[in-house]
Amino acid sequence: MSESTLLKAILRFKELKITHFKFKNRNTELHLGVKPYKNGCRCPECHRRCRIVRFGREVRSWNDLTVFGMRVSLWYAPKEIECPTHGRLQEDIAWASRHARITYRLEYRICALSQIMTQNAAAEILQMPASTLSDLLHRIITRVRAGHRIRGLVTLGVDEISYCKGRKFATIVYDLDRSRVAWVGQGKGRETIDRFFKEALSPAQRHRVRWASCDMSRAYTESIKANCPHATLVIDRFHVVKALNGALDEVRKEQWRELGADQRKAIKGMRWLLGMHSRNRTKAQTRVLNQLRNSNRRIHRAWVLKDEFEHFWNYRYPGAAQAFLKRWITTALKSRIASMREFVGTLRNHFDNIITFIQRPLTNAVGEGINRVIKIVKNRASGFRNLESFADLIFLTVGDLDIPAHIPSKLRTL
Ligand SMILES: [Zn+2]
Repeated sequence: MSESTLLKAILRFKELKITHFKFKNRNTELHLGVKPYKNGCRCPECHRRCRIVRFGREVRSWNDLTVFGMRVSLWYAPKEIECPTHGRLQEDIAWASRHARITYRLEYRICALSQIMTQNAAAEILQMPASTLSDLLHRIITRVRAGHRIRGLVTLGVDEISYCKGRKFATIVYDLDRSRVAWVGQGKGRETIDRFFKEALSPAQRHRVRWASCDMSRAYTESIKANCPHATLVIDRFHVVKALNGALDEVRKEQWRELGADQRKAIKGMRWLLGMHSRNRTKAQTRVLNQLRNSNRRIHRAWVLKDEFEHFWNYRYPGAAQAFLKRWITTALKSRIASMREFVGTLRNHFDNIITFIQRPLTNAVGEGINRVIKIVKNRASGFRNLESFADLIFLTVGDLDIPAHIPSKLRTL
């Protein structure tokens, strides 16, 4: 067995021949002169076999996977070809994408590692600076997603998310039928969501949207109504519950301010307990909350209202749910608690779009799976400086396009 055959076997090269090799930089780098294995040059655009116009003059190099800590790079001078359709071009390279400076194998590993660990950790394993990794990843994702159109979007969810340590916002559009992220845009509010409808969807696609889930902000509800005339709007359950819990907490804070030290004892450390869903409470915890009836009636009343509201989500018939909600509103107004009245105001403003939940229990929490991943992504990159790198990782992990699947299957070795 010759040395180059051995090398070829170790490095698992199937697509190419090793013509020569050299160790550089005190044996930390291995430079391999290579040559495509098969004869016949192909056009990078149409993959048709083409006539060679000129033999390669300019040598290009591609970084490959590291082997035992050694950097490996491939060196080759691509030939110039003439395609009847595409004209004079550099031949198609079997081991790398057209303008890439790294091999498909390295691209695949970058994607695979970035999906499961922090960028810093991936950069360390790949022995490259984190900024280089993030640049390379951006190129791969931009290339794969170029020309990608959203398809078959029937149920969409809109939500906003903060990045850059909460200083900047992005709007995320989910495809809730597929539980994938379809779009990420800088900013929040009407302008951003309008941009999504204008840029990412055709008028026909907008008309095909049947269901939409979002929070209670006017920007989203109005934009959806204006752009998707056939969509039924469902206010995201999570945001309704959050608003109600906020109202309850407001009562607790108000009482805390008003009460003396002695009475405060009764409600000390209650915040978390009050906000808990009844399903998650132990009997002992419920007993503690019931004792509020004697110690602090106002909080007790607000808490009972909050607990009762939970029933709403279990209704099966819109008519019954509507009747329940109206009854609940009457009780809430009778409680004469300001923050609860305010919540009732919000509820009334979105009444019809909250009832639709009974028809179709839609929530961005499908949603929650995606959100959880996005949160992990956010933590992994420890505060993205720009939206691009954040969006890259979102698309890589929960995007509507399987990015690693676009790397030629033969070259997906890890
Ligand atoms: Zn061609």
